[in-house]
Amino acid sequence: MEQIYDVVIVGGGPGGYTAALYCVRAGLSTLVLEKLSAGGQMATTTQVDNYPGFDEGIDGFELAERMQRGAERFGAVTEYAEVTAMDLTSQPKQITTSSGTFLAKAVILATGASPRLLGLSNEEALRGRGVSYCATCDGMFFRGKTVVVAGGGNSAAEDALTLSKMCKKVYLVHRRDSLRATQSYLTPLQNAENLEFVWNKQIDVLDTTDGHLSSIQMTDRVTGETSTLECDGLFVAIGRIPDTALIADQVSCDEQGYIIADETTRTNLAGVFAVGDVRQKPLRQIITAASDGATASKFVEEYLQTL
Ligand code: NAP
Repeated sequence: MEQIYDVVIVGGGPGGYTAALYCVRAGLSTLVLEKLSAGGQMATTTQVDNYPGFDEGIDGFELAERMQRGAERFGAVTEYAEVTAMDLTSQPKQITTSSGTFLAKAVILATGASPRLLGLSNEEALRGRGVSYCATCDGMFFRGKTVVVAGGGNSAAEDALTLSKMCKKVYLVHRRDSLRATQSYLTPLQNAENLEFVWNKQIDVLDTTDGHLSSIQMTDRVTGETSTLECDGLFVAIGRIPDTALIADQVSCDEQGYIIADETTRTNLAGVFAVGDVRQKPLRQIITAASDGATASKFVEEYLQTL
């Protein structure tokens, strides 16, 4: 007979593998479905300095592998497969993948979210070489340097403020002539002496020196004039895209596409939980994803007792 797992976890980032660790230690048969390799976004970060316990920091890829091994040590199973469809309303729930269909009594969605890219040709190649999508993670590498923050929402405002406390100069480059960030950010932004607004500019080109970002080229969206701005770093903060395409018609999501789940990680569907960056939450970090994973296991256990 086909195996029915107690819980299948979709996504092997910090939220997913922490959920796996806690679930398997609670005695649940636990399967993690991961498309490529463990870690999600974390695995693309070369130096993680804000996950406690690593006094000299740790490479994100290595931390991911350690999280995976930590869960597998207690019996969690990883299947490398791409999920192509999910039926989350049936019992057992069915997850169709490139390696076949898996059945689960409960499902934890840990699919994460990806930063929206500017879409410039060498942008991805410069990730970690001057281009970043996380001021909280990477800001300190630019201490005393000149950086650009791209965007005009709350993330860009928050990143610009964070960076203004450690960088020599911060340019906040926005494609409009005003921010859409909430009013409360404006006064502190205006008061930051090393912060300059650059309005109506679209970033077109990322220039490099020795393989590292050295300046950006911009076009003024009003006058059409082009200009160049020298900088050591570019923090892109133009929104994120949660990975909910496969389940958005079954699980309630907010207007930005994030799964609506509270601190219990329960979604609108019984037996379906959401952890990490894919869930509505005020701070998306490795530690908050891991925290969700631990919490989810408690409510998965509670749910399984009702079956
Ligand atoms: P956002 O609110 O969607 O803002 C994205 C910004 O990036 C907009 O100003 C947009 O410009 C710009 N943008 C989008 N695509 C662009 C492109 N291709 N090139 C240049 N600029 C582009 O995203 P967010 O700031 O990441 O915030 C997401 C959500 O999280 C929001 O609901 C926000 O309130 C929330 N958040 C809250 C806090 C907080 O409360 N402390 C902190 C961070 C985020 P346009 O204005 O022209 O569209």
